Amino acid sequence: MSTTKHSLLIVLLFAGIAAWAQPKPAANAEAAKMKTFIDNLMKKMTLDEKLGQLNLPGAGDIVTGQAGNTDIAKKIREGKVGGLFNIKGVEKIREVQKLAVEQSRLKIPLIFGMDVIHGYQTVFPIPLGLSATWDMKAIERSAQIAAAEASADGISWTFSPMVDIARDPRWGRMAEGSGEDPFLGGAIAKAMVRGYQGNDLKANNTIMSCVKHYALYGAAEAGRDYGTTDMSRHRMYNEYFYPYKAAVEAGVGSVMASFNEVDGVPATANKWLMTDVLRKQWGFGGFVVTDYTGINEMIDHGIGDLQTVTARALDAGIDMDMVGEGMVSTLTKSLKEGKISQAQIDAACRRILEAKYKLGLFEDPYRYCDVTRPAKEVYTAANRKEARSIAAQSFVLLKNEGNVLPLKRGGKIALVGPLADNRENMPGTWSVAADFSKAISVLEGLKAVAGPNTEILFAKGSNLDYDAKFEENAGMFGKSLRRDNRPSAQQIAEALEVASKADVIVAAVGESAEMSGEASSRSNIAIPQAQKDLLKALKATGKPVVVVLFTGRSMAITEEAAAYPAILNVWFPGSEAGYAIGDVLFGDVNPSGKLSATWPQNVGQVPLFYNHKNTGRPLPAGQWFQKFRSNYLDVSNDPLYPFGFGLSYTTFTYGNLKLSSQSLKGNQTLTASIDITNNGKITGKEVVQLYIRDIVGSTTRPVAELKGFEKIELQPGETKTVSFSITPELLKFYNYDLKYDWEAGDFDIMIGSNSKDVQKQRVNWQK
Ligand code: BGC
Repeated sequence: MSTTKHSLLIVLLFAGIAAWAQPKPAANAEAAKMKTFIDNLMKKMTLDEKLGQLNLPGAGDIVTGQAGNTDIAKKIREGKVGGLFNIKGVEKIREVQKLAVEQSRLKIPLIFGMDVIHGYQTVFPIPLGLSATWDMKAIERSAQIAAAEASADGISWTFSPMVDIARDPRWGRMAEGSGEDPFLGGAIAKAMVRGYQGNDLKANNTIMSCVKHYALYGAAEAGRDYGTTDMSRHRMYNEYFYPYKAAVEAGVGSVMASFNEVDGVPATANKWLMTDVLRKQWGFGGFVVTDYTGINEMIDHGIGDLQTVTARALDAGIDMDMVGEGMVSTLTKSLKEGKISQAQIDAACRRILEAKYKLGLFEDPYRYCDVTRPAKEVYTAANRKEARSIAAQSFVLLKNEGNVLPLKRGGKIALVGPLADNRENMPGTWSVAADFSKAISVLEGLKAVAGPNTEILFAKGSNLDYDAKFEENAGMFGKSLRRDNRPSAQQIAEALEVASKADVIVAAVGESAEMSGEASSRSNIAIPQAQKDLLKALKATGKPVVVVLFTGRSMAITEEAAAYPAILNVWFPGSEAGYAIGDVLFGDVNPSGKLSATWPQNVGQVPLFYNHKNTGRPLPAGQWFQKFRSNYLDVSNDPLYPFGFGLSYTTFTYGNLKLSSQSLKGNQTLTASIDITNNGKITGKEVVQLYIRDIVGSTTRPVAELKGFEKIELQPGETKTVSFSITPELLKFYNYDLKYDWEAGDFDIMIGSNSKDVQKQRVNWQK
């Protein structure tokens, strides 16, 4: 048995911008050079040309060889476009860039943006899946590969990471973020920004990152997309702001405004949010872009006509107008009428030019337009190998009764379910650059990984749902599940026939890719009924049923959790889906993912999250219902699966939590350590989690807050000690006056394998 000391350098919370914002002398010289260059350029620019830089139209249907004949081309020649987005293909992009730098008066290059959200053509798991790896290196690497592929194909700017805290799984965009926790979300935000931008934005394989959707987008009322948010500043600062701020600290180049309102003013026109918080308090120095028609939508929000809302957006601190063209069409008039100032237009224009400068586009506008790169760098075997490995790490083993998993090779396996033989749904939502036809289906993957001695029998067994319209809605963007119009009884009979020949049944069920993502909210977060009925019929065979669950949100699967011996949640694994699923099902990879958001027992418990407040009438632990306590008549307060939960094919035992002291003072460091042993027969990875509860505060404090984590690998029989260094930095929070500090008193230090299963000890910490 070996014991290795591990220590975690805990990221200091809210360390203040002072340290990281201090420019080095070389950076100062570079900044001065950039200023001179942009000063000179701006002296030559007309008002229209300045406004042109603020304009980000969609690319429309540009055909290679024909770019010059489009409407967009005309605007580019006239200097009325600052950048384009969601145009794919380096030849096309090169052609469009040529228009800007050869045919517009000032030859200012364009910036090319795209929603490169979880990979480019090599697709990684959806962000919610990536977050379940709890592996910051893997996440950073995924962003690095995405940047390398995207930049090889002409892209210099990505609308990622999406860091909106999501506590309501009805909201479909939960799929695009990192779940419910600020600390984990903040660490991931930093990893992604580092991955995209690297150390050198000018390198031709890095791209500018854009953190979104600032702010609070994930808190939409009733989980309905684009819905209203309304929360206290106390909660904003302590919880929802954290990951955006983390991205700013990591040096993110741009920020996207969210669609929702904040404090009764749409984020896009909210000066407090965009200027006071973002720029003055956090020191953000990049540019802010609206979301898609974010300015125009403020007319429907009800705060004025296009001229009014556009002027408000500029005044609030918005620099670039995505799609809506409100800025190019109304700001001249607003300037004449004195509603905005020339200085405001100049400031916005300067920030866009700075971004282009930082990307090296003025030195070489074709920096990201090497047409020989895609063949060498996009969707390579090496990238796909990494995507396969990261995908396998993102899977969360929710149940494995009687060690049904891993599957044994040899014999016969019945693979059933609407998601079993389907490629296009594997990459998941927001995989705009993916070639869906190339993604690896579960059927293909299982066959390849199982090898020649295992027979994989297949039947679809059911449609996604009984409701054809629902299935169509959820099959947008060509991600069809190819509806089978035969009676469902016939489809189930076919599956049972296949199952009767097999030793074990693997059911690939759950949501289709577009059942989560933008504008894909659900009021029912269960497995659709047609698939539930298929599963029940399979269970009646008496053969073990392994549920391989696809989802872009936390689901309510209480019935299935009780009924089936094994459940492997695979999110949407990306282009290598089937291979990664095969790797885990056959035990070539031991699952190690942990949930980054709570799974409720039913949708009525939503929003349900681990870091809630205690209330004045908490339900005593282990109880279900007590009159006059904060609870429900018909369901306990417990989640089905808590935040941080996930099983392994091996078992880990935790030794006793040890603290270096129980009584601390001032800036001392508390070391909390624990031994973890792998008691099983195979190597496995475990995510060890540190939570802290501030027992008494001047404002109420959450019952637990994640403050550290470490993912370790243990050989069979091996023990490792994981140590967390805790300083008062980790105890700080924003008080009622939004002052950021810690308060003396008692704290519970908790370490465990998930947010519910922890060991706890109390310390007293005086100033
Ligand atoms: C989404 C953004 C996205 C943008 C551009 C919007 O509808 O909210 O997340 O980046 O479109 O495609």
